[in-house]
Amino acid sequence: MNTTANDNLFSRLFDQLDDPSRLAIEELDGTRISYADLIARAGRMANVLVARGVKVGDRVAAQTEKSVPALVLYLATVRAGAVYLPLNTAYTLNELEYFIGDAEPSLVVCDPAKAEGVGKIAAKVGARVETLGADGKGSLTEAASQASPEFRTVPRENDDLAAILYTSGTTGRSKGAMLSHDNLASNSLSLVGYWRFTRDDVLIHALPIYHTHGLFVASNVTLFARAAMIFLPKFDPELIIKLMARATVMMGVPTFYTRLLQHPGLSKESTKHMRLFVSGSAPLLADTHREWSARTGHAVLERYGMTETNMNTSNPYDGDRVPGAVGRPLPGVSVRVTDPETGEELARDEIGMIEVRGPNVFKGYWRMPDKTKAEFRDDGFFITGDLGRIDGKGYVHIVGRGKDLVISGGFNVYPKEIESEIDAMPGVIESAVIGVPHADFGEGVTAVVVCNKGAPVTEASVLQALDGRLAKFKMPKRVFVVEELPRNAMGKVQKNILRDTYSKIYNK
Ligand code: AMP
Repeated sequence: MNTTANDNLFSRLFDQLDDPSRLAIEELDGTRISYADLIARAGRMANVLVARGVKVGDRVAAQTEKSVPALVLYLATVRAGAVYLPLNTAYTLNELEYFIGDAEPSLVVCDPAKAEGVGKIAAKVGARVETLGADGKGSLTEAASQASPEFRTVPRENDDLAAILYTSGTTGRSKGAMLSHDNLASNSLSLVGYWRFTRDDVLIHALPIYHTHGLFVASNVTLFARAAMIFLPKFDPELIIKLMARATVMMGVPTFYTRLLQHPGLSKESTKHMRLFVSGSAPLLADTHREWSARTGHAVLERYGMTETNMNTSNPYDGDRVPGAVGRPLPGVSVRVTDPETGEELARDEIGMIEVRGPNVFKGYWRMPDKTKAEFRDDGFFITGDLGRIDGKGYVHIVGRGKDLVISGGFNVYPKEIESEIDAMPGVIESAVIGVPHADFGEGVTAVVVCNKGAPVTEASVLQALDGRLAKFKMPKRVFVVEELPRNAMGKVQKNILRDTYSKIYNK
C-alpha cells in the first residue's frame, strides 16, 4: 500500500517527519544524531554516490564494520534509487570475489586496509572502490563532508529493488535475495504496530548491520517509529546492562540472552526500565526463555524471519509468549505447513515444510530464475526450507532446517526432538543432532553435547538416559561431549561444520 507520492523506502521513512529535531541515533562517545542530521548525512552521501557514477538500479556493495556512516551509506543508496548490498565483515577476499562477480556492483565500499585486494576484484567488473573504516573515516566520508546535504530522493515503485542480501549459504552457492522497497517498508511498519513501538522508545542496537535482523528489523522499525537507537559497535553484556537503565527495547539473537544470563548484573532491577526483549535469527531454547522470565520478570518475545522473507511470525505483545514457539503470522502474512514431497497442506500439529506468502516475501534470487522458480509454489507461497508445525492456537513451532533432517535407515529423524530430550538432562547446556554418512543406515544419528563444567555427562550416560525414551531408529549411534558448538555471528549453530567434523566416524 502506498501512502506517499514516492514509494522509495527513504521517502516512506522520512517524508512525513513532524519533528526533525528528535533524536534518531546516539553513539557510545555521546554523539547525538537527530532525524534532520541523519537525512542531511544521507543527502551528502547520496550526492557522492551519484558523483561516483552510481545510477538508478546499480548495486552498491559494502563490506564495512558497523558504524553510523555505514548505516548512512545504506540509507543514501536507497535514496539514490540504487540497490544496497551489504556483505558480512568476516568474508575473505576469496569469498568477496564471488559476491562481487555475481552482483556486478558499480561501487564497492570496503575497509581502507582491504582497498588494494578489493580493488583488484572490483576492477574485473568495472566497479569503483571507496573506503570506509570502523572509525567512520575513509574516502567515502571524506567526500561526503564536502558534498551538499540537499538531494532529491529518486522516485521508486513498490516492486523496485532496494537491497540484495546474500543468504548465508551453508550448502551450495550463496544466493542474492532481492528485496523491494515495499518488502522492507511494509514489514517494518507492520512490526512497529505489532510490537507497539512509539517515538518514546530507545532501542539497544548491538546487532551487526550486514544482516536482515540488525539492518532492517532493528534500524527500520526504530526509524519508522521516530524512536531512537543507541548504536553499539558490538555486543557487550556489561555495557548493555548499564544501558538498560535508560533504554526500552532490545533486539537480540539467542546468544545475547544466554550471555546476559551469565552476567550477575542481570536482574528485575536492572531491566525495570525496559519494556520489550525480542529474540530471533536462531531458536531460543525454551529453558533460556524461562530462565530469563524468572530472572528479569520479562517474557522474551520470539519471532521468526529470514533474509528472503523479512519477518513472518511473532509471539504476541499481549497474550502468551510461548517458550519454544515463534508465534502467529504477522498481519498480511500467510503461513502454511505442507508435505515436503507432495506440497499438500497438512493438518494442525503435523510436521512439514513451512511456506509463506505476503508483501514481506522477496522478489526472487538475483540472476537465478530456475532456483527462484523451484522455491515458489504456483500460488505464490515461498518454500522456506524450515520444517515445523502449527499448533491448535495457531502458533508456529520450528523443528529445524529441512536440510538438517536426518534420514536413518529410511526413517525421518527430526533433530529437534532428540535435542530436546538431551537438553532436558541434568548438567546439559545444549546439544546439536546431525546425520553423518553411515554405510548401513545412509545416515547415522549423531549427537554433539555441551554440558556444565564438571558435570558427569558422558556418551554412556546420555545413551542410557535416552534408552526407552526414543524409538530405536532415533537413538544416536554416537554422542560427543564438547566445550561449545560452532556458531555464526547470528547465533546459528553451524551444523555443516559439525557434519564435516564427524563425517568419517562411521565409514573410516
Ligand atoms: P537468515 O536468512 O540468516 O535470517 O536465516 C533464516 C533462518 O534462521 C530461518 O529460515 C530459520 O531457519 C532460522 N530462524 C530465524 N528465526 C528463528 C527462530 N526464532 N527460531 C528458529 N529458527 C529461526
